[in-house]
Amino acid sequence: IFHALVLDHVGSNACVKNMKISDLPEGDVLIKVSYSSLNYKDGLAVTGRGKIVRSYPMVPGIDLTGVVEYSNSPKFSTGDAVILTGWEIGEKYWGGYSQYARVKAEWLVPLPASMKPKHAMSIGTAGLTAMLSVMALEENGLQSDYEVVVTGAAGGVGSIAIALLSKLGYKVVASSGREEAHDYLRELGAYRIIDRQVLSREGKPLETQQWGGAIDTVGGKTLTGILRSLSHGGAVAACGLAGGSDFCTTVFPFILRGAKLIGIESVLCPSETRRKAWERLSQLLTSDLLERITQVYPLSEIPRLSEEILDGRVRGRIVIDVNAL
Ligand code: NAP
Repeated sequence: IFHALVLDHVGSNACVKNMKISDLPEGDVLIKVSYSSLNYKDGLAVTGRGKIVRSYPMVPGIDLTGVVEYSNSPKFSTGDAVILTGWEIGEKYWGGYSQYARVKAEWLVPLPASMKPKHAMSIGTAGLTAMLSVMALEENGLQSDYEVVVTGAAGGVGSIAIALLSKLGYKVVASSGREEAHDYLRELGAYRIIDRQVLSREGKPLETQQWGGAIDTVGGKTLTGILRSLSHGGAVAACGLAGGSDFCTTVFPFILRGAKLIGIESVLCPSETRRKAWERLSQLLTSDLLERITQVYPLSEIPRLSEEILDGRVRGRIVIDVNAL
């Protein structure tokens, strides 16, 4: 008998329930889960405020880490430490808010040798998305003579994006709506902090070139604002919608400055890219930094924390200890 957080049907409250291994869906690898995490998407799934869950009953949680207990696949053996993020777990397939998970081997990435399981979940989907965003900007040729802006700075993706860019030597500007987070953002490596309203206010189709690149977790008017101030040849990695899903722009940033809008997608991102991203994350982020951005909570706190993350009140990353009630 083990514990899992379960959503029984559309609109039901998430409850911790007792389960048996035989209740788990089919898969070739059984994992004894140690930690999961809370992402914005998990907040939408658990509260029902977004249409994330596509079949019921569902164990939410889009991330997990743990140790292989049993494997029917030559790719993994009993005792291997693994990470699983995305691949539609917690949406279409049962996810990480559980002490055990049975999944497909092809979804798993080995835990990098130097990384603690808890820290893998301090990173989770949010950190992977931040790394994929940085890699996309690098591929476009990120210019270090201009500043790089990160929006939704105090959130999960934002916090890790700031830490990564600052470690790589860029001048990172954090855009945040939270004054109380300024010291925290400076500790992560922000060179300068701007209020989130600076980017979202109305403006001309093109403004002074300011950003060599951008990682945008907010969308809406913020994305419009970034595009009009991108430097010549600059790119924005668009990865989120915390401030809105639609946005208006003109073609001028694209046809007069060669601006690029790059979409970032972490759920079905290919295994090879994930492995590269996890290796770089393990090299660039120290344990100290990951401790500083992380708070750990038990399974039973997930419903309350889900409301908080959607209201923009969570700072950094929340790790879930699935073995704690
Ligand atoms: P999070 O921890 O809640 O961070 C979001 C941050 O956005 C908040 O901390 C807040 O930062 C800012 N924010 C919140 N509401 C806002 C509003 N109304 N207007 C402007 N800014 C607002 O969430 P997360 O897990 O980092 O995810 C961030 C976004 O990325 C979400 O939209 C999520 O769905 C998306 N995402 C996408 C992928 C992908 O594969 N593309 C993967 C992961 C996440 P400040 O308080 O500092 O302003």
